[in-house]
Amino acid sequence: MILSLIDEYKENIEKAAEMIRAGGVVAFPTETVYGLGANATDEAAVARIFALKGRPGDNPLIVHVDSIPEAQRAAVFCDKANILAERFWPGPLTLVLKNRGLPGAVTAGLDTVGVRMPDCDAALSLISASGVPIAAPSANKSGSPSPTKPEHVQKDFGEDLMILDAGECSVGLESTVIDMTRDIPVILRPGAVTREMIRECIGEAAYTESFSPDEQETPMSPGMKYRHYAPRAAVTVVEGNNISVAEAIKYLYDKDIKKGDKPLIMASRENKIHYGKRDVVLTGSVYHPYEAAKCLYGLLRDADEDGYTNIYFEAIPKTGIGFAVMNRISKAAAYNIVKV
Ligand code: AMP
Ligand code: MG
Repeated sequence: MILSLIDEYKENIEKAAEMIRAGGVVAFPTETVYGLGANATDEAAVARIFALKGRPGDNPLIVHVDSIPEAQRAAVFCDKANILAERFWPGPLTLVLKNRGLPGAVTAGLDTVGVRMPDCDAALSLISASGVPIAAPSANKSGSPSPTKPEHVQKDFGEDLMILDAGECSVGLESTVIDMTRDIPVILRPGAVTREMIRECIGEAAYTESFSPDEQETPMSPGMKYRHYAPRAAVTVVEGNNISVAEAIKYLYDKDIKKGDKPLIMASRENKIHYGKRDVVLTGSVYHPYEAAKCLYGLLRDADEDGYTNIYFEAIPKTGIGFAVMNRISKAAAYNIVKV
């Protein structure tokens, strides 16, 4: 059931907090994506999240807190972690730190825990009203695109799940995750808080080796090739200069049509004109990658709803949050990237 936070904000936050305190699971908004939350200190409640999502038990959850002191009760903060929390919280940055005593179900048995203070009034109100830290992965079934609207959550989990509705998420991509337990902190997942922003604060930050070779400064061992954040349609990313990209996409699209497939083009506002009457949805302006970040998952979900079989995505510049957008779409495409 969807509980609106436009009407009855306090009452609905209280209902959701009661559910959390009782060991239940609630979907709630954050600035990144919707989360599937439960009391992080209650092992049985956390187990319900894994069961609902179909999430492998070895993939740890992020713990959401409403203040820095609350985070410091959950995890051991080093100096650099304090600096990053002061600078970027509340906000889309998850710090991986030594765990202080949260159950192994949350951390997947690791001795570290990912913590974050979300930049979203509804999420902060829920955490405060519950009186406990809230463990939450993205509120989608494992493998499918993360939800950025309450309807996405309901589509994956049905009517029974309690969903707090604060409309569309403002960022639209999951948080940056950074492992602070290494000498040089390592970014495990890129997001709206970029490596440049982190380096400005604490000097050094590396990217994990599990990013694709393209995402590394120096090529690493062959990237892990798995499909994630993925719609049912086959995704192809096309990268190059505007004109060549449009030519390549038109060629691939027209070939699909001849085969009887149903292709869709995800294009920038600037490039739309090249595609004539072909099916196109806009990812925003190439100059404003946060527009693509905000609409990406919704567009992938809509493409499935509309029965598209193939998606051609125009690569966007890897600047700012554009780096994270390209990371997610490359995974959705299982690194099926055409360079022209
Ligand atoms: P999600 O909640 O779906 O956004 O996924 C949470 C992400 O944070 C996953 O990629 C996890 O692997 C990562 N994560 C959470 N806790 C840790 C941790 N202790 N160490 C490393 N990665 C973590
Ligand atoms: Mg997820």
